[in-house]
Amino acid sequence: MKKQIAILGSTGSIGTQALQVIAEHSDLYEVYALTANNRVELLIEQARQFMPEAVVIGNETKYSQLKEALSGLPIKVYAGDEALAQIVEAGPIDVVLTAMVGFAGLKPTINAIRAKKKIALANKETLVVAGELVNELAQQYGTAILPVDSEHSAVFQCLVGEVGNKIEKVILTASGGPFRTCTMEQLKTVTKVQALKHPNWDMGAKITIDSASMMNKGFEVIEAKWLFGLKPEQVEVVVHPQSIIHSMVQFEDGAVKAQLGVPDMRVPIQYALSYPDRLSSSFDRLDFSKCGNLTFEQPDIKRFRNLALAYEALHQAGNMPCIVNAANEIAVAAFLRNRVSFLGMSDVIEKVMQTVSFIKSPMYDDYVATDAEAREVAKELMNFKI
Ligand code: NDP
Ligand code: MG
Repeated sequence: MKKQIAILGSTGSIGTQALQVIAEHSDLYEVYALTANNRVELLIEQARQFMPEAVVIGNETKYSQLKEALSGLPIKVYAGDEALAQIVEAGPIDVVLTAMVGFAGLKPTINAIRAKKKIALANKETLVVAGELVNELAQQYGTAILPVDSEHSAVFQCLVGEVGNKIEKVILTASGGPFRTCTMEQLKTVTKVQALKHPNWDMGAKITIDSASMMNKGFEVIEAKWLFGLKPEQVEVVVHPQSIIHSMVQFEDGAVKAQLGVPDMRVPIQYALSYPDRLSSSFDRLDFSKCGNLTFEQPDIKRFRNLALAYEALHQAGNMPCIVNAANEIAVAAFLRNRVSFLGMSDVIEKVMQTVSFIKSPMYDDYVATDAEAREVAKELMNFKI
């Protein structure tokens, strides 16, 4: 029996690479459902190639175009947020790859967990916002959450065979992004065009900006806490500009295990689908004679204040990471429209953290309300409407 895969966000960077993995292993995997938000043409093309049972487009105004283009094919077509959240519950689905961006991933992920689907988790915002709730549900429903994020996949791979062995700390590597060597003065005037040029990874716009500001690494610290049951002080970040070591685990005897490879997201995507097995792949191999020096440096939380803000949210806990995530989503959207400066994004996030009501033990509805409130506050601060 082929594993049935649902991809939430199939038209994005992770989604399209996941489809390449599935195409390479069509003897093992089949696409059950594909979803997108706006890019309807690409979704149509993917549906014709992979012939899923169902497709969902988030933006309802694109429904008729999608429906018409796929008429005559045995593919069910749906639209809207409710359909996106519900499609994951379909009986035959084995694995849900959460590759959509932002808070919007929370509801479908929770639904998938409740429907006992294995989660291949790329949408880190889900764990940033509601890691505690998501973990509780995963435990309650006996659902496995397998990391797709390269750092967390690296940690996960280092932990194979280590059941019961104590982790001293996890060391997440960060490329440092395009502004790693910029002075504070230079950071004042960097543009979105510069920020969108990541040195090592080709990713969607939102995570590329998060990588430039190091909010991505802050989110990954929070993600690591929930995925591996760590205390905040057990998660360390080291800047490693070559992105060859994808992350490391230090055990209580002082031994450190690392996972290495060329920066190619298809490797962790494939591992999340095939775990505990490894499958063959046609991807590039690491050539040590060509990769030169591997270097390491401390992250600078003065220049990259978002990293400090994420640590602050992690320590405060409750709904604070949810507040930071929502403020950041709006700040990034505004930065991409030239409505706030690069450094201005951190000012906005900090203000929103101080303004939105703190809830110590939030429930699902609290997260939804917090997210909405934080977005509004962030928009008001920038006089920004979307
Ligand atoms: P992209 O922007 O490339 O793709 C996002 C996908 O999600 C698209 O299919 C998009 O549809 C869809 N989408 C966006 N917003 C919504 C919404 N509100 N409702 C429904 N669907 C939506 O992002 P990435 O692939 O880069 O990232 C996806 C997730 O994976 C993020 O959480 C990111 O942090 C994480 N991740 C990404 C990595 C990477 O290398 N790219 C690495 C590690 C983690 P449409 O195309 O129609 O807009
Ligand atoms: Mg990552």
